[in-house]
Amino acid sequence: MRESLRSCSWIPAFAGTTIAFACAFSAQAGIKVEKYAEGVYVAVRTEPPGLMFDANVVFLVNDEDVVVVDANLTPSSAKESIAALRAITKRPVRYLVNTHWHIDHVGGNATWREAYPGIEFIAHTSAREDMLKTGETNRKAFLEGGGGFAKQLREKVQKGENFAGKALTEEEREAYLADATLVESYLREGPAIEAVLPTLAIDGRFVLRRGERVIDIRHLGAGHTAADLVVHLPNEGILIAGDLVVFPVPLVGSTSYPSAYAATLGRLLELKPKLIVPGHGPILRKDDHVWTTMRMLEALASQVGAAVARGETLEQARRSVHLEKYRATLVGESPQRELIFRSYVLQPGIEAAYNEAKGKKP
Ligand SMILES: [Zn+2]
Repeated sequence: MRESLRSCSWIPAFAGTTIAFACAFSAQAGIKVEKYAEGVYVAVRTEPPGLMFDANVVFLVNDEDVVVVDANLTPSSAKESIAALRAITKRPVRYLVNTHWHIDHVGGNATWREAYPGIEFIAHTSAREDMLKTGETNRKAFLEGGGGFAKQLREKVQKGENFAGKALTEEEREAYLADATLVESYLREGPAIEAVLPTLAIDGRFVLRRGERVIDIRHLGAGHTAADLVVHLPNEGILIAGDLVVFPVPLVGSTSYPSAYAATLGRLLELKPKLIVPGHGPILRKDDHVWTTMRMLEALASQVGAAVARGETLEQARRSVHLEKYRATLVGESPQRELIFRSYVLQPGIEAAYNEAKGKKP
């Protein structure tokens, strides 16, 4: 189990009125496109929760153009999103916001540019730097190690056994197969992906006005990464959160800042969105999951901070952390969610909190 977790630790260490819009677009393989307000559509990924990800993509269809949030993992999944958008409107995409630099949110940039020449890519200034440095290192590591991980997932399915050596549940079987398929698609397409950097790098806030629509692009503080952006639509009460919010299990990767992350989620909650679009997982109509995530991050940061103050090593700190209350809410009885919780919150999350408490940059 540890081996498999290590091999996938590259990963992003990785409401208004809803009108169901499923009929016209439900035929798309990996996405389900729904309309959540006038001109606001979300292409929600349909994979079950796993260790590998492709991102939800948002289309903001304005009077004369379109603003897109996040670009997918691969050219083929970006093409799926583009086909879905073209079935909605022929208007051109003017801006694409990359909420952060992780590959599942930027891998499709070149494909979007090909489809919409003249498109501008918006990201945080430091995300641009991270795409060039850590992003490239992670990409190479994944292209080398991803094949072994996919093979392991398929072997587990064949044996009917999970990573804990127990009988595989149906939920796990579906998730392992979806993970393997995503990894394999990246291995096929990843080597040829051209890294497309932001053309508009912002630090704090950038507001686009399109007719009546206000598109408020904001950096609320460090969190899932050093420089996540959220896209707030104040008139519609919709908040596009990137990976600051992920359902059902939060992603606290090795490039996260758990203490700052909790404060950032506090600022996000102050916006009082009626509807939250997470980076991964279904659209949330209540903010209770964000509250749980925030409280868990506060507990993680304060317990690890206390361990560091006692002079504990990272391994000692791992034994000092007790997040059972939050684990019970987020995981329940699901062994698949347990795997995700261990792989993200406990493994890289504790280490990230340890480094943050010591003042070290990820
Ligand atoms: Zn992601």
